[in-house]
Amino acid sequence: MTITIRRVRPILTMPDGFNRLVVVKVETSEPELYGVGCATFTQRPTAVRTAITDYLEPFLVGKPVNAIEDLWQTMYVNAYWRTGPIMNNAISGVDQALWDILGKRAGLPLYELLGGRCRGGATIYRHAEGRDPAEVADAVRGFQEQGVRHVRCQQNGYGGTTFDAQAYGRSVPRLFDYLREELGPEVELIHDVHERLSPADAVTLASRLSEHRLFYLEDPLPPEHLAWLPRLRQHSTVPIALGELFTNPQEWLPLLERREIDFIRVHVSAIGGLTPARKLAAVSEAFGVRTAWHGPRDTSPVGHAAQLHLDVTAHNFGIQEWPGFPSTVEEVFPGCPRAEDGFLYPSSLPGIGIDIDEEAAAKFPISEGPDHWTLVRLPDGTPIRP
Ligand code: MG
Repeated sequence: MTITIRRVRPILTMPDGFNRLVVVKVETSEPELYGVGCATFTQRPTAVRTAITDYLEPFLVGKPVNAIEDLWQTMYVNAYWRTGPIMNNAISGVDQALWDILGKRAGLPLYELLGGRCRGGATIYRHAEGRDPAEVADAVRGFQEQGVRHVRCQQNGYGGTTFDAQAYGRSVPRLFDYLREELGPEVELIHDVHERLSPADAVTLASRLSEHRLFYLEDPLPPEHLAWLPRLRQHSTVPIALGELFTNPQEWLPLLERREIDFIRVHVSAIGGLTPARKLAAVSEAFGVRTAWHGPRDTSPVGHAAQLHLDVTAHNFGIQEWPGFPSTVEEVFPGCPRAEDGFLYPSSLPGIGIDIDEEAAAKFPISEGPDHWTLVRLPDGTPIRP
């Protein structure tokens, strides 16, 4: 007998006190069978909830759980206007839950359904921050003691609402001069520009960083100015990772085709879930571009657990950003991944291998209203990209 979708429920929770997580639970005509998926758009969580309850649930109830590709395509086109982050995240929640259900029905972990593992675990990188280069170096050493070999290094983090682009442009090469001097050549270093510089300043910074042998430089340019990438590539050998704001295949396809990036770094739920992400991984492989899925705490543990199955099955996997989660988050998400010696290992339970404890989730209601983290200005008051 065909198993069908009975209910589609968005669950909103904020167990780390900051990131508003959206997780979707798809319940089926089999009383005990359900799946979970990540739909986290932390800046607009209730808009995603509305998209699910008002539009996706009525569309999906009664449809077969095994029609993952068909349901993805029809959810995608049902709104006619498509590829926006609200609908993509809503679709992702359902899509990942359907993959979870498929694994549970098969009695296999998701990585088996994706073709099986081609590596034991996924190499991670962590975030080192400090007020000066010495503090950043100390933070890197702390991670090295835990077996981590890849570290993203930021002086002053992203804190504050004012950003002095000129001071920043001078400080970054000084930071990496110091880190290479102190830490030696072996540790793999990453830096995130967070698209805050003017295109000309980004080209200059990338050029200066050629000598520091970074693992990659992240988001040197915003999506609006990607036509500057060829000039940046002419002046720098630093590998480039880009794409966490992408929601439309037309944003990444030209970059892959022209080999203008080295790592594709989308937020998996923002492009619509596992179904489009595994296609993106496959097309990236054809162009020699590696994956580095976006993975701060605004990817829920469900989203992390799901993309971890892709990490271990995609031949062109590059690296996985890993934030580590506090115990309050682990309490809400039984099966939340944990890093060991610089690696993450996917669960071998059927499906994605993670759950949400709804009673625990209800103890952490989300905050309301607009996001403030994205409001950054230059010293003269000009609003800039975060
Ligand atoms: Mg980033």
